[in-house]
Amino acid sequence: MMNTIDDKAIVKDYFNAIGFDRWRRIYGDGEVNKVQKDIRRGHQQTIDTVVDWLKAEENISSLSICDAGCGVGSLSIPLARTGARILASDISPKMVEEATIRAQKSLKDTSNVIFAVQDLEGLSGQYQIVICIDVLIHYPTEDAAKMIAHLASLATSRLILSFAPKNLCLTILKKIGEFFPGPSKTTRAYQHREKDVIAILENNGLRVQREAMTSTHFYYSRILETTRS
Ligand code: SAH
Repeated sequence: MMNTIDDKAIVKDYFNAIGFDRWRRIYGDGEVNKVQKDIRRGHQQTIDTVVDWLKAEENISSLSICDAGCGVGSLSIPLARTGARILASDISPKMVEEATIRAQKSLKDTSNVIFAVQDLEGLSGQYQIVICIDVLIHYPTEDAAKMIAHLASLATSRLILSFAPKNLCLTILKKIGEFFPGPSKTTRAYQHREKDVIAILENNGLRVQREAMTSTHFYYSRILETTRS
């Protein structure tokens, strides 16, 4: 039987080793294969959606934002450019290291962004906006529920999250599965039912105020922006 601890340990190891190399490339701009290119394009679309939502805020530069599971900083870096105060954290030290390097390379000023190695369930503090993009796919729904509850407790105003919806056909899972090869290096891809996710959010006092869906051939991500009801 898997439990959160096992899943977390596996996910952390994965994103610190083979998964790090793979996703650093996908979330980069170098040569990748066709499937990876498709996933890169889909992921970028998800990032652009969230950045566009937040850039439309008049007071963006005064906001405090927590990017939980920041990866290589694909979202945190463009958000830092707006002047918002960002805490970017990830369970994988390698991911955080890469995010820090990318921020130093591409930001003139990094004083408003802090990078930290941290399991999202170990995060504390209060942020106006908490964001968790493409992380919940690594956990079963009952564990995702605990994570969402914790993230909700950190958010004074909004929680934005994305997940792979369960209603789509299983081939997607298989395709995603290609990116998690080998029994010892495996981390599973978990889809979640949208109604389950919405119920979890509502149990934590949050209701959906904006939504979007990214779908390319090999990448699917439902994005929900929720606010305190
Ligand atoms: N949100 C980023 C990265 C997505 S990849 C983006 O969209 O670009 C998923 C990331 O989640 C990986 O970097 C992985 O290390 C991180 N992660 C997985 N489980 C986590 C947890 N429990 N706490 C914090 N980060 C986690």
